[in-house]
Parts: sequence; C-alpha cells; structure tokens
Amino acid sequence: MPAYDYDLFVIGAGSGGVRAARLAGALGKRVAVAEDNRLGGTCVNRGCIPKKLYSYAAHYAEDFEDAAGFGWTVGERSFDWSKLVAAKEKELTRLGGIYAKVLTDNKVTVVLGRARMTDPHTVEVAGKSYTAETILICTGGKPSHAQFPGHELTINSDQAFDLPALPKRVVIAGAGYIALEFASIFNGLGVETTVVYRGAELLRHFDADIGKLVHQEMTKKGVTFRLETVFDKIEKKPDGLHITTNHGDTFVADQVMMAIGRKANTHGIGLMEAGVECNRDGAIVVGDHSQTSVPHIYAIGDVTDRLNLTPVAIYEAHCLIETLYKNNPMRPDHRDVPTAVFSNPQAASVGMSEEEAREEFGAVEIYRSNFKPLKHTLTGRDERTMIKLVVEKKTGKVRGAHMAGHDAAEIIQGFAVAVKAGLTKAQFDATIGIHPTAAEEFVQLRSPVAS
Ligand code: NDP
Repeated sequence: MPAYDYDLFVIGAGSGGVRAARLAGALGKRVAVAEDNRLGGTCVNRGCIPKKLYSYAAHYAEDFEDAAGFGWTVGERSFDWSKLVAAKEKELTRLGGIYAKVLTDNKVTVVLGRARMTDPHTVEVAGKSYTAETILICTGGKPSHAQFPGHELTINSDQAFDLPALPKRVVIAGAGYIALEFASIFNGLGVETTVVYRGAELLRHFDADIGKLVHQEMTKKGVTFRLETVFDKIEKKPDGLHITTNHGDTFVADQVMMAIGRKANTHGIGLMEAGVECNRDGAIVVGDHSQTSVPHIYAIGDVTDRLNLTPVAIYEAHCLIETLYKNNPMRPDHRDVPTAVFSNPQAASVGMSEEEAREEFGAVEIYRSNFKPLKHTLTGRDERTMIKLVVEKKTGKVRGAHMAGHDAAEIIQGFAVAVKAGLTKAQFDATIGIHPTAAEEFVQLRSPVAS
C-alpha cells in the first residue's frame, strides 16, 4: 500500500503543469493535476494563442491596403468582432480537448476545482483531500493592478479578449509585451488607440534600438503614444471614460486597459500551511532545480517569476522530470532565451542587448541595418525594418541578435540557435544568405556602426 495517494500532485494545468504531469504519467508515476479553469492555462486561454490569432486578424487591414500596389482591387471590407471572438472560442475549445486527451492518455487524473495545500503533503480540492509524495506548483500569474481613483473602470488583457463589442477608442497603460501587442491588435482592427507609458521609451527590457523602431513604426500606423505619463484618475461620464493624467490634461476613451505587468498567482493555495517561501513580489522562491523551501515541493513557470514565457515553463517541466524521476539532474538554463513581442511590427531578440554586452564585456562591436523591405517598394508603405548584432570584441562571438520588423519572431528563432551555440561573427559572415529575404541581412553586416 503506497504511503500517499499520488507520487506527484500538480497544482495548475497550464503549459508547465500539463507537461510535467504528462511526462511523469508516461513514466508510470501516479499523477494528478488540479485546475479550476480551462485546461491549458494562460498561454492557451488568455495569452499566446488567442493573442496571435487576433494579431493575424488585425494584420489583414494593411494586407488589403498593400494588395493594391500589386495590382489587386480589393472590394468592400468589413470586420465583425463577434465572429472573431467566436472563431477564437472554437479553437480554444478544440485545444482544451487536446490537453484533456494528452493527460488521460498518460493516465493523469484531472481534478477540477481550486487546489489548496493544507499541509506539506496534502492538497484539498473541492472539499476532498489528496496526499502526494511530491507537489508541483504551477499556478502561473495574473495581471497586476494599479491603485488610482477610477481604477475599477479599467479592464485587463483577460477581459480584452472577450469584450462584448469592439470599442471606438481604447487607451492602454504600459509599454511591454501585452500593451504593444494589444495596441497593434486594436489599431489594426480600426480602433483609435493610445498607449500611455510612464517611461521615456517603449520595451525598456529590450535593446534600445528595438524600442525606438517599434515606437516609430507603430506611430506611423496610427497609434498615439503618451510617454512619461501616468493616470491620475478616470471618471465615467455619458460620453465615455475621462482620463486625467499627471500632466493635468484629460482625454476620453471607451475602454481603458491596464497592461502593467503580471504577478505570481499564489493567493489562497496554502503556501503558509505548506511552509513554502515567497519573495517580496509574491513569487515562489526556488533553487536551481525548481525546489522550493520545502524539499519535496517544487514550482515552475510564471509563479516563480524567473523568465515568464511559455516555452521556458515547458523546459523547466522537462528539467524537473529528468531530475525527479530519471536520475538526471538538470538545471534550467535561462540564458539566451529568444523572445518576441507580437506587435506590428514585431520585435524579437535573443541574447544580450547592446547595453548589457557593454556592461559585461566592455569592448563590443555593433552591427546594424535599417532598411525598407522589398515588399514595400510596390506597396508604397513607409515601413522600416531594423536588425542588429551585438558582438563581443575579444572573442568575436555574437552575443545578441535583435530585429524589429515583419516576421521578426520567425527569423530570430533561427538565429537563436547560432547565438546559443556561441557562434562568431566570422561564422555568420561565412554563411550565405537566402536572397531576397530580410533575414539575409544578418549574414551580410560587414562594417560595425559602433564599437
Ligand atoms: P511587461 O513587464 O512586459 O510590461 C509591463 C509594462 O508596464 C512596462 O512598460 C512597465 O514599465 C509598465 N508598468 C509596470 N508597472 C507600472 C505601474 N505601476 N504603472 C504604470 N506602468 C507600469 O508586462 P506585460 O503585462 O506586458 O506582460 C507580462 C509578462 O507576460 C511579460 O513580461 C512576459 O513575460 C509575458 N508575456 C509574453 C508574451 C510573449 O512572449 N509574446 C506576450 C505577453 C506577455 P517599465 O518598463 O517602466 O517597468
């Protein structure tokens, strides 16, 4: 008779939780996963997937316009928000079914309801207790709030996906991933879009040239940016939401969306009862092998606030299962993780920014190209693409690759292999480009623009 009901009890069926549960199940472990929402977590239900679908929807607006440059006459266009929401819902339901099947196929028990640890080996869900030898917390994150008069009139990205109707005017606070992705979506769908940001330039955690180009290009596409600006108050009036800023001016919108970061989702899961420690921001503190302050309780994904990206959570799950059940201790390596913002234009990066590399290595060489993509020679659209390599002077290694422009995410994914492998600029130079592409620029950068 086993001492516990389960070998592994996973709290949260998001990207990390589902992967860990199914890998452990496939190894013959007795596994349960608890979820109080739809299977798949943020990425599938309120993040990456619906966001990318909406980005495609928004992009058609300029694709129709651009077609004229190639001889097309595009007829009357109209957009139906409710059709897009319904199509998205259908796809999410399909994906939810796939997640459920993957879990069942691997003999994982799915327990529906909100889980709470009542002691270090017991999880309670919907009034029933389950004991487990090992507990894995993967409860993800949730949108951060700001406190100012009228903050309750704002929405966050969770709600933005399912608005009953498309607003005419939207204001978005923040200049990170979610703010710029939603600003591009709303703007593409014809909504008058304003981004309000407290800092001086967008995408503060990216290479500075990325923020500048995305700012310039999104502005050309019609998004208004109010920088170094925060909300003082928001008031509801008959003609809309009146937003007063720290500069004393007031403007009106139909929806205000906060996209000012996300926080670890740990409320009410019994961390205290189990003895699991959090940091000052509320994220679960873990060691190199995702172990919390309680040796048999682990945490992965956004709830640990290491690098809050879906593929990272999945990778942390793999490392953990190797460590726990395959006698192969693996530490997740969070260096050189590529990432992209699905704004229009997209921004994508891998490795160090120019600023980070200068700080780390002192001597660096910077290669940069800023060009008009071939397609726009015929569309007449005034759109620029920027690519950039950051090279460590001493070793010649490419330490960072950055791009803002069409398909940046797809292109940087490929170059991420080269940066992760520690390839040198000479090896980039020895690579032949594919012509005519934007990506070929990365292997044709001959003269540094700065060192
Ligand atoms: P980000 O951290 O990307 O951006 C938050 C933005 O809000 C920043 O511009 C930040 O400014 C600003 N901000 C923070 N606090 C305040 C405040 N109190 N008042 C006003 N502005 C504030 O967070 P997001 O919410 O956009 O996304 C959360 C996370 O989700 C991302 O960091 C990422 O890990 C993940 N994500 C990934 C995506 C992808 O891979 N494509 C897509 C969406 C989300 P400042 O820079 O000055 O701090």
